[in-house]
Amino acid sequence: MNDRTKFLLDESRMPKHWYNIMADLPVPPAPVLHPGTMQPVGPDDLAPLFPMELILQEVSTEREIEIPEPVREVFRLWRPSPLFRAHRLEKALGTPAKIYYKYEGVSPAGSHKPNTAVPQAWYNAQAGIRKLTTETGAGQWGSSLAFAGALFGIDVTVYQVRVSYDQKPYRRALMETYGAKCLPSPSDTTNSGRAILAQNPNHPGSLGIAISEAVEIAATHDDTKYSLGSVLNHVLMHQTIIGQEAMLQLEMAGDDPDVIVGCTGGGSNFAGICFPFIGQQLRGGRKRRIVAVEPAACPSLTRGKFAYDFGDTAHLTPLTKMHTLGSTFTPPGFHAGGLRYHGMAPLVSHLKELNLIEATAYHQNACFEAGVLFARAEGIVPAPEANHAVKGAIVEALRCKAEGKAETILFNLCGHGHFDMTAYINYAAGKLTDQTYDEKELAMALAGLPSVPA
Ligand SMILES: *Cc1c(COP(=O)(O)O)cnc(C)c1O
Repeated sequence: MNDRTKFLLDESRMPKHWYNIMADLPVPPAPVLHPGTMQPVGPDDLAPLFPMELILQEVSTEREIEIPEPVREVFRLWRPSPLFRAHRLEKALGTPAKIYYKYEGVSPAGSHKPNTAVPQAWYNAQAGIRKLTTETGAGQWGSSLAFAGALFGIDVTVYQVRVSYDQKPYRRALMETYGAKCLPSPSDTTNSGRAILAQNPNHPGSLGIAISEAVEIAATHDDTKYSLGSVLNHVLMHQTIIGQEAMLQLEMAGDDPDVIVGCTGGGSNFAGICFPFIGQQLRGGRKRRIVAVEPAACPSLTRGKFAYDFGDTAHLTPLTKMHTLGSTFTPPGFHAGGLRYHGMAPLVSHLKELNLIEATAYHQNACFEAGVLFARAEGIVPAPEANHAVKGAIVEALRCKAEGKAETILFNLCGHGHFDMTAYINYAAGKLTDQTYDEKELAMALAGLPSVPA
């Protein structure tokens, strides 16, 4: 038994490559389709939105892609991130299980998102791009790209979902401190935003709408590209530094996880912690249980349809095959803003179809209860999104207790909740409602799925 609590990796052991799971998949994922021709998209179709290096990463089947040294240099500001053994949580639960968590809240923006924001900004800067647009829900992605833009001299414009723009002034202040411009979405600066406002001037916005606005600006301005904080293959790959580090740290601890848990919004932090382990398995290594946890109010992976759909509401993006609730689905305004997306990363969806991962969903009150228990035992107040992973890990630990099994559980604590204390205030006041998703609205949104010839 290892009694240590904290496992720190020497900087010299920080991974030098990202891991690309495409190299090890038994079946390739379905191709991305052009919405006009319904033919697979090629690199040139994506060129208005992304620099070529990132497009090549998006379609790459190389197992390892080198992390450029200037990116590693920035990573050293907070990486390697610590791995903790949650001794006090284990004791509080009375479980024989060992619980480890990888903590990504040590980054400047307080979550895993700078792991991809920094390389994305760097590749854009290398390609001579000086302006980037993006969307943000809870504000974590917007602040991460704002930070990365400041490092490499890129002007960042962030379309922030209206509800969170109004409810989270501190995230906006953080983006502006880093030098970014922040607009509430839907806005009157784009055709897609104006169309929504014409129907409903008080529309609360959604990630799908904010993506449409950011994509529209990039597609119609030669000097501007677009940056996405989740879902895409290259974004998931950038996050694999998390799982690779965790592997080395668990080796230091003399342990190996039986179960790996992560929360899923678009799927990037989950992919980050588990893809390197799944890769080992696909190359003949040990099989582990991998559990994705999502909110019951936005259950794309557990209750969505595996089908071709658009990534945005105005249907400007290519079609990808994924678990989706329908691109016009507006999730209820619950507190884990970062998990309010209608779709799931195509790669995560594909792994679910191949039965390489499991998925489960919990209501927000149960997740906050888990987060508060975790904070009182381990000291860190998790982001509302991360509470879903905490909840998933606690469920596994209690199962181990009931079964008398001393399994090893690893989960990704993807961010801290210091900018989300309003959510904790509302939870403590009993004001959070557990919304089951609206069956009727969901059926309507799914009825609108694009028809794709087989
Ligand atoms: C953005 C975000 C998420 C959701 O995005 P994924 O791509 O699913 O990781 C989860 N947790 C935190 C802390 C986030 O900032």
